[in-house]
Amino acid sequence: MILVLTGAPGAGKGTQADLLADRLSFRKVSTGDALRRHIKSGSRIGKEAEAIMARGELVPDDVLFRILKDELGTNSNDRVLLDGYPRNVSQANTLSSLNDVHPVIGAIHLDVDENELLGRLSGRRVCGSCGASFHVTANPPTKSGVCDRCGGSLIQRPDDEMASVKVRLSVYDKNTKPVLDFYKGRSLYHRVAGLGTTEEVFDRLKRTVEGLMPAGRGQ
Ligand code: AMP
Repeated sequence: MILVLTGAPGAGKGTQADLLADRLSFRKVSTGDALRRHIKSGSRIGKEAEAIMARGELVPDDVLFRILKDELGTNSNDRVLLDGYPRNVSQANTLSSLNDVHPVIGAIHLDVDENELLGRLSGRRVCGSCGASFHVTANPPTKSGVCDRCGGSLIQRPDDEMASVKVRLSVYDKNTKPVLDFYKGRSLYHRVAGLGTTEEVFDRLKRTVEGLMPAGRGQ
């Protein structure tokens, strides 16, 4: 089964998906992380995606479909938390077509207003080695520029630079917001307020997730 975690860039999906995966035994599947791994390894997909991602645009649907199928696999017993997919209605339909093996049991929208998103994205720094995420003011590392988790160097993601952030937010408005209506129409939509500390947001999400788990499959 799949739980979709959706929301604008900077809403905190990645951080919360990591926590939910750790604490509620989900397997996190992030299409953004998968694409960044392709870029790092220099694969054909990585070469095709790199410039598109740096501009903040969407990578073509057929590439994402290949990534999705690879990442989901064929085990229908998996509890998957899907971060970053679907990004448009066509991808939402593609995901529905996998319903026999991977039914979507809910789509949780982590809702954060646009001013807050801009501040979060422009101040975000990530570890080039382990991917841990920090913020220059809200969650600074102990030593400036150095990852607390692994000692790697912190960098700004190319797509967190202001020009790309603006593109990503407008892509979200135009392409991804209609996905919310897609799930509302199927009674799978759940909104969770994304403001507050990481733990406060996590508690809200946890309650929502627990309400969605079929009997006997919760933690
Ligand atoms: P994320 O880490 O989810 O913010 O994704 C980073 C970037 O990867 C996005 O801005 C897109 O360029 C690309 N990407 C990730 N997921 C998708 C998707 N489902 N469809 C198209 N592009 C994607």
